[in-house]
Amino acid sequence: MKEYKFLFLVGSQPLYGEDALHAVNEHARIMTDGFNSAAEIPCTVEVLDCLTTSQQILTAIDSANSDPMCAGVIAWMHTFSPSKQWIAGLGRLDKPYLHINTQFNRDIPWNTIDMDFMNLNQSAHGDREHGYITARMNLKRKVIAGYWQDGEFLSEIGAWMRAAVGMLESRRLRVLRLGDNMRNVAVTDGDKIEAQIKLGWQVDYFGLGDVIGEIDSISEAETAEKTAQYTEKYIMDTEDIQAVRYQAKVELGLERFLRAGGFGAFHTNFEELHGLRQLPGLACQNLMLSGYGFGAEGDWKVAALTRIIKLMSRGLDGGTSFMEDYTYHFEKGNEMILGAHMLEICPSIAADKPKIQVHPLGIGDREPPARAVFNAKGGKAIVVSLVDMGTRLRMIVNDIDCVSDRPEMPRLPVASALWKPQPSLRVSAASWILAGGSHHSVLTYALTAEHMRNFAEMAGIEFLHINDSTTVENFRKELETNEFVWGV
Ligand code: MN
Repeated sequence: MKEYKFLFLVGSQPLYGEDALHAVNEHARIMTDGFNSAAEIPCTVEVLDCLTTSQQILTAIDSANSDPMCAGVIAWMHTFSPSKQWIAGLGRLDKPYLHINTQFNRDIPWNTIDMDFMNLNQSAHGDREHGYITARMNLKRKVIAGYWQDGEFLSEIGAWMRAAVGMLESRRLRVLRLGDNMRNVAVTDGDKIEAQIKLGWQVDYFGLGDVIGEIDSISEAETAEKTAQYTEKYIMDTEDIQAVRYQAKVELGLERFLRAGGFGAFHTNFEELHGLRQLPGLACQNLMLSGYGFGAEGDWKVAALTRIIKLMSRGLDGGTSFMEDYTYHFEKGNEMILGAHMLEICPSIAADKPKIQVHPLGIGDREPPARAVFNAKGGKAIVVSLVDMGTRLRMIVNDIDCVSDRPEMPRLPVASALWKPQPSLRVSAASWILAGGSHHSVLTYALTAEHMRNFAEMAGIEFLHINDSTTVENFRKELETNEFVWGV
């Protein structure tokens, strides 16, 4: 994450004289060093000398816009920076913007404070002047106030940075479609042009035959090497090594195709398996584990979202997987959702070392596919869905608690996760369904709804959050209000 950088712009004006501006620069450098060594800050902060003219601000913002590794801009007014000089630069801003309202000194020096001190440390009103112009220009932005060494303040910045990294990568994401989406299914379809306008995703179709060519070109030695890697990561719980070797070959061919095309995510569709002997299972699982986004049944939206959430959460504990709400446990007071898929759940969420097994699959009309079977770990997580509402894209997040102490399910031949959605299964499910949330989602332990809210705000898409304080009544009202905000 340290490869991504954020430009730290400190605003001032020439009025104060050189000594004051030297002090501002010195403080900003100390703060930048603090940010860069704080555990809460995942990326690199680069500070410029304080900006005192419209031209300097314009040049700084242009440099942020054009730097491919600059994920966003952080602004702070140590002194007073008249905001008309920000209009030209902010009008050209093309990166996520964070306005921090902080102060170099934590405490007021009661015994020594004088007007020089007051004039040097006036972000309390300097940042209000800046807040006005960003509000007046209706600039997409985040505002975080607090002391710059405070852990909560830093954590909020860290969460925003991760969203900005997601946005940067989203804008250059290419998604491979193998086939279309599953015939007649609505929620996995959508407007790819709108997705590219809002999120930057280039969603491209290729015939499966193009990938089959790559799979066929994989040598026996490469296949053997990949299969050996499987035996390190997974427990080989099958006699059918040929089935496992076939998945290894599919993975290698797919990855070669993904790399050559610069794809970060892909989907399959069990209705489109011409020339494949098995539905890709273990192949997709292991590709997800290495960071690729994946969606089943032609769901390119969930594939892209899986990729972005994996990139946003790099370096954090937890895992991230494509997921599907599968079946309910309605025991009173202990209601839960069992999430799984035909095969393709990412091993990054496994509680224990997954087992490779081979079982018949009643769908897709192919040979029994090898897959990694495991239980997902316990802990706090979120599920995220992105749907196309016709007039806009809508993101829905539900806070969930994954259950680790779970009954054995000896006959279940796939990886699965068991969770209690907040605030309850009844309220969560009713709200999710009212919002049109998909059965496909991304489950992640590494991020919170706050990360995703930041991301949605940067992208300019609707955001809905189902959490421990949600009621169906209030959620309905929010949906109704949102029709006025987003529906036109
Ligand atoms: Mn599905």
